Order: sequence, then C-alpha cells, then structure tokens
Amino acid sequence: MLIEDYDVEVFTPPCEPGAERFAARARLKVDISEVLPYLNATLRGAVYNPAAKALTWKKGGHNIAFHAYEIATSNVEDRDAAEKELHGLIALVNRTWERRAEIVPDHSTRQRPTPMAVYNLLPKTNCRQCGQPTCYTFALKLVAAQVKVEDCTPLFDPQHADKLAALQSIIIDAPSIG
Ligand code: SF4
Repeated sequence: MLIEDYDVEVFTPPCEPGAERFAARARLKVDISEVLPYLNATLRGAVYNPAAKALTWKKGGHNIAFHAYEIATSNVEDRDAAEKELHGLIALVNRTWERRAEIVPDHSTRQRPTPMAVYNLLPKTNCRQCGQPTCYTFALKLVAAQVKVEDCTPLFDPQHADKLAALQSIIIDAPSIG
C-alpha cells in the first residue's frame, strides 16, 4: 500500500466565509508523485502538470488536486461528504499504485475537453432519453463526470458510430472513488 498514514483536515475555504461548501485536505507522509502518470492515464478529464508534480481532476462538480504530499477536494456539500470523498481518493491512489503494472503511464498534459467539443459529438436531438433536458446539459455533465457516455443511448445507433468513437477517445470512464 502506497499511502498508509495521513492527516485529514476539513474546512470552509477562507475565500468563501459562511459558504455552504466544504473542502478537505489529506497531508501525506509519502511522496505520491510517481503515481500521478498512472492516474493521468486512467482518470477522465485529468490535467497533469509534470513540472509541478500536480494533477487536477473534476468529479461530480468537485475540484480535486493531487500533489506530491497532499490530496485535496473542494466544493463539497457537507463535512461528512468531504471527508468521505477524501478517504475514497486515498483508496483510489492506493488501488492505482497496486495496478500500475497493468497501466501504461501517461506523462503528457492533456487539455480537458470543453462542453462544446463534447456537444458537437452528440446527436443534438434533445430527446431527453438520458434524463437531461438538452444535449448541451448532458455535455456539461459529461465533462464534469456526472453522467456517462452510455447514458446517451441514441449515440450507440450505427449512424453515430464515428461520433461515438471520437467521444470515447476524449472521455475516459471515471473509476469509482467510493
Ligand atoms: S440522450 Fe443523447 S441525444 Fe438525447 S438528449 Fe441526451 S445527450 Fe441528447
């Protein structure tokens, strides 16, 4: 196990006094820099900065950052959820490290796909089969990892095969952190 011991702090960001959102930070006793290229290869929409030894990621509207000795999440709805998510992120790092022999590490810095780039690959019929009111809303949520490509069933029609392949090339399924 890479991370065995860490200190957790849950707080309201000082720039948002009184806000109903929370942040949590785990201070680590080991350097996790070496796992960042493996996370970069497996997390949808992650942005890796090798020079800074930092990787940022958005999941479910939360802003997540991995640094050499720290993992942080912010914009979380309550204290318990923030702490729980942080423990999930620690477990994700440990699982990824244990699976590293199966993963090709990615040392590149990818641009996060924009909602418009994703929207342009959707059927654009606003049919609502995905549960969203419009295709653009679906694109916004897909970029934020709040929905999955598979939720848009019309996209799996053969006529959209090219768009589906293009979308899958820029969207990597997000792993569970629970
Ligand atoms: S199911 Fe697909 S095509 Fe229909 S509204 Fe949702 S994103 Fe658009």
